[in-house]
Amino acid sequence: MPTVTLPDGKTLTVDDGTTVRDVAAGISEGLARKAIGGRVNGHTLELSSPVPADGGTLTILTRDDDSADSLFLLRHSCAHVMAEAICDLFPETQLVYGPPVENGFYYDIDLDRPITPEDFEKIEARMKEIVAESRPFTRYELSRAEGVKKLQAEGNRYKIGNAEAAKGDVLSFYVTGDTPGEYFEDLCAGPHVPDTSYIKAFKLMNVAGAYYHGDVNEKMLQRIYGTAWPSPKALRAYLQQLEEAKKRDHRTIGKQLSLFTISDKVGQGLVLWMPKGATVRYQLEDFIRGELVKRGYDPVYTPHIGRLDLYRTSGHFPYYKDSQYPPIGSESDEGDGYLLKPMNCPHHIQIFDAEPHSYRELPVRLAEFGTVYRYEQSGELSGMTRVRGFTQDDAHIFCTDEQLESELADTVDLVQFVLDRLGLTDYRVRAGFRDPTSDKYAGTDTNWDQAQSNIRNVVGRLGLNATEEPGEAAFYGPKIDFVVKDCLGREWQLGTVQVDYNLPERFDLSYVGADNQAHRPIMIHRAPFGSFERFVGILIEHFAGAFPFWLAPVQMVVATISEKVDAYAQLVHDRLFDAGLRPELDRSSEKINAKIRRAAQQKVPYILVVGEQEAESDAVNVRRRGGDRLGSMPLDAFIAERRQDVASRALTP
Ligand SMILES: [Zn+2]
Ligand SMILES: [Zn+2]
Repeated sequence: MPTVTLPDGKTLTVDDGTTVRDVAAGISEGLARKAIGGRVNGHTLELSSPVPADGGTLTILTRDDDSADSLFLLRHSCAHVMAEAICDLFPETQLVYGPPVENGFYYDIDLDRPITPEDFEKIEARMKEIVAESRPFTRYELSRAEGVKKLQAEGNRYKIGNAEAAKGDVLSFYVTGDTPGEYFEDLCAGPHVPDTSYIKAFKLMNVAGAYYHGDVNEKMLQRIYGTAWPSPKALRAYLQQLEEAKKRDHRTIGKQLSLFTISDKVGQGLVLWMPKGATVRYQLEDFIRGELVKRGYDPVYTPHIGRLDLYRTSGHFPYYKDSQYPPIGSESDEGDGYLLKPMNCPHHIQIFDAEPHSYRELPVRLAEFGTVYRYEQSGELSGMTRVRGFTQDDAHIFCTDEQLESELADTVDLVQFVLDRLGLTDYRVRAGFRDPTSDKYAGTDTNWDQAQSNIRNVVGRLGLNATEEPGEAAFYGPKIDFVVKDCLGREWQLGTVQVDYNLPERFDLSYVGADNQAHRPIMIHRAPFGSFERFVGILIEHFAGAFPFWLAPVQMVVATISEKVDAYAQLVHDRLFDAGLRPELDRSSEKINAKIRRAAQQKVPYILVVGEQEAESDAVNVRRRGGDRLGSMPLDAFIAERRQDVASRALTP
């Protein structure tokens, strides 16, 4: 008889064949009414599935919880309903594959007639009818041979392909109804919610093209995306969030605020920083540079290319050839050509290796805003966040085993400091450890155990909200990733800190220890922002273009009421400029309201209105972004306050 442990720690021993539904009903009637499935030992089960014979930890999934497992059941079930609706409306449809994805689901279909957003309403209406019929999702199984015979008779080559790829001796089918043969059914491993009435809120989102199995030689299919949520309220909130995300899209704001552009003539995925975007980056560079100096990093500069042989030694070539621009140069050059650098590490290693090192000089910390190039597929490029050339706020630390923990602590502290300063305070930390059952890793077991325990200590000491993820380490060492939530609740992987046992080995690096013997240093790779391109893209969306004062490309517009005060306005501008601030002067003949509107559209933090009264009293009339009118104040006082904002890198206004 299986014994299950419930989330509150209680254990239950149940009869063989007891279903998840029975367990829920045994706990409470209310829970049974809300239950949609269960999770046992990492597997999601249907409500009607028996509890596994060997028991385990059982969580009952409910219709209103928003756990990934519950949403999976809901969304995948909704994909069945959508597929049925499409087949009803377009009977010549051949279904291919319909998995849940983040925030929704899709179904790939083969249909010569294009499905357009205009068809969505009809499909959704049919889906609502199916949902209203409260039809159960009923599983039945056939032997592999019988199942394939059935699919062959139906003549859908995609489903035959799916069946051939499926594991096991039996094939499972799901009928959306109680009797096979009488309702829509689909080859599927499950699981699903109990019946269609559990699908309370859904919407079709868009259609895209997709090749069968991603193979460009195959037919182009139609991929229909939808989303489903536990309640209409949750669906509305999601659609609102999408709307907000669209407004904040860094590609749109980047254009409105003249921050960056991408030109086909230069190349896709290659960001051109316009003066205002470059000013934001310049401030960030300045900020990080100041921190690096304080924290004992040494600056270096290295070229954008390196010999192919360098990357053969590092292992970046030819293994990652598909994600690199092709080599440049030819046989006539020394060696057989050059590569645009995909990583800065091999260059920094050569700097470390240019001189002998004693243990007394370690750690060596080499920092560079290093530009690297990777040939991403064109379909994956997007604004500043998915690019082919980018500049990392990179550094490499070479240290001894004994120094590893304190160096990790310092780098983690730096990443935290940087994120906190930018108001990105909602983050979690992932400690990527090795999979203890795999032998793919470089470095010895002792090294790994040591490094992982160092990471554990650092995480504990700094009180980080961290999860350990075995199997998520790089093959060359464990790592710490910061996953940051922006103001819309979207997660971005930013700062990363990686321990590396592999490159020091490949480049045969050494230092002389206290024992006068040669020892291998450990390397740490780390980049708090990741890259300036991606980071600024994320900041644009996080702030919706309204950068904090210290980062704003234009910090204030001096706007004149009439041309009588032109000379005074110029003087105000010059005094702001001389104080190290970034003013803009608007002496156009437009009405003051038009000037204020334009500055507001550009998300400028302050508008300083000057008229005759201000000119007489050496003052400015201050309006803050967002509409606050601060009234007239002496220019000197305004300058002093703003300089304070810059010095403290305040997140206001
Ligand atoms: Zn299914
Ligand atoms: Zn590196």
